[in-house]
Amino acid sequence: MTGKYDYDLFVIGAGSGGVRASRIAAGHGAKVAVAEEYRVGGTCVIRGCVPKKLFVYASQFSEEFEDAEGFGWTLGERSFSWEKLLANKDREIDRLNGIYIRNMESAGVKIFQTRAFLKDAHTVHLVAEGRDVTADKILIATGGTPFKPASIPGIEHAVTSNEAFHLDALPKRGIVVGGGYIAVEFAGIFNGLGVETTLMYRRDKVLRNFDEDLRDGLMEEIVKKGVDLRVNTDIASIERKGEVLVATLKDGGTIEAGFIMYATGRVPNSQGLGLEEIGVKLKKNGAIEVDPFSQTHVPNIYAVGDVTDRAALTPIAIREGQAFAETVFNNNPIAVDHTIIPTAVFSQPELGTIGLTEHEAREKFGDVDIYKTSFRAMKHTMTGRHEKTFMKLVVDPGTDRVLGVHLMGPSSGEMIQTVGIAVTLGATKKQFDATVAVHPTASEELVTLKQKWSPSAN
Ligand code: FAD
Ligand code: NDP
Repeated sequence: MTGKYDYDLFVIGAGSGGVRASRIAAGHGAKVAVAEEYRVGGTCVIRGCVPKKLFVYASQFSEEFEDAEGFGWTLGERSFSWEKLLANKDREIDRLNGIYIRNMESAGVKIFQTRAFLKDAHTVHLVAEGRDVTADKILIATGGTPFKPASIPGIEHAVTSNEAFHLDALPKRGIVVGGGYIAVEFAGIFNGLGVETTLMYRRDKVLRNFDEDLRDGLMEEIVKKGVDLRVNTDIASIERKGEVLVATLKDGGTIEAGFIMYATGRVPNSQGLGLEEIGVKLKKNGAIEVDPFSQTHVPNIYAVGDVTDRAALTPIAIREGQAFAETVFNNNPIAVDHTIIPTAVFSQPELGTIGLTEHEAREKFGDVDIYKTSFRAMKHTMTGRHEKTFMKLVVDPGTDRVLGVHLMGPSSGEMIQTVGIAVTLGATKKQFDATVAVHPTASEELVTLKQKWSPSAN
């Protein structure tokens, strides 16, 4: 024990940020404990990125089976078992959960399986144990939780991503509400698994803040894949009639479905933690206010990850957790740079994006050079599928620097990770062009785009 406290560091929340922070701090010799109210691993591992990606894989087989025929294969009768997918997914999540627990314990971190909240700046109450522990430093890494608009009558019948990973059965019809990452990803998952899927978004184009070409391109492709996309549409009320849910729309129409999933954003988990009572300031949306080193307005209390709403992505929570532990326990101050973040949307087709959109670049730099291409992937010359792959570079004509890359098509997530290195390093278009192409690939287009795009020529 260090000084007058039970622990040097107490972390609330064992998700991406909390796990990383606690392990690194323990590695620097701190005595560390973590409280987790649900399952160690947090959203990403238990009911986010990992099971979602497994579902994406599962849902892609329906197209793969169809495409195989173009290459000479004849497939027998196909059937899909939701129960088997859930069981195999749960087994993998249990395995990862076990690895996270073992890694933390072997780093010397004490895990309390309980909800926790603050009584004062150094006292944490462990609800399941009915007792308090004290700590010198406290890290809030409690993540976020799905948001459902409470004002809609019958909203209690709707599920969120939390429940979507455990639906008892896969109904014939489903509605996904929202136009963000989770909505477009789950619309693709359900559609690929054979559910007649409606994707309902309240504005005109999904994925607000993404590059316009990606937004338009994705909407076109998901419709081709059979998703019933309804934009400028919203639900007014939901009613249960036996097994069926009836959604009444704001324009008066109705749609029936076996489930309705709300993917309408996430809110920071900052309530009921005793934060404001002790002087930790929250933003309007409940996010904890922190400085670039993740310190709150109470000097010994820090916060990382989704609860701070800087960028709600796992690699960012991990970085913030690592930077906090380095800053506070290794005398090595690190402020995470949130300005350039590569990201993928595991929609179908997949998207990858980094840097400025064309719109943002024009606002910032005025004139920008655009290089873009849209083509049918080589594989689909044999399958007959009319799916477009799209690539775009946004370039600053003054410095020749590549300001943004926006991709749609198979493996865009993998591609954006790699090309993201060049963009993060400030590569110029000339340096892209100097890179020898890898043939035959789709990504070779990134280094062979010669023709500047101009609206008049198109
Ligand atoms: P979390 O991982 O949410 O961890 C917080 C933990 O705190 C939870 O385990 C919670 O149970 C616990 N907790 C909360 N309150 C208390 C309390 N009072 N006491 C004790 N414990 C508490 N990001 C990506 O980068 N790529 C993806 O593909 C991706 N896919 C996603 C798919 C879905 C469906 C969702 C929902 C999210 C996805 N994300 C993805 C986002 C990613 O999961 C989050 O950004 C990341 O998990 C944030 O980490 P965190 O440590 O801030 O919080
Ligand atoms: P997003 O913030 O991405 O999207 C929320 C969507 O819900 C928006 O389209 C929003 O519309 C809409 N919406 C909000 N409120 C309402 C309402 N009252 N009625 C109808 N529609 C509404 O949130 P998600 O839940 O999709 O995901 C949360 C975060 O998790 C993401 O932002 C991302 O950071 C992370 N994530 C990352 C993934 C990845 O890296 N692949 C995958 C999944 C999640 P509007 O645009 O009009 O505001």
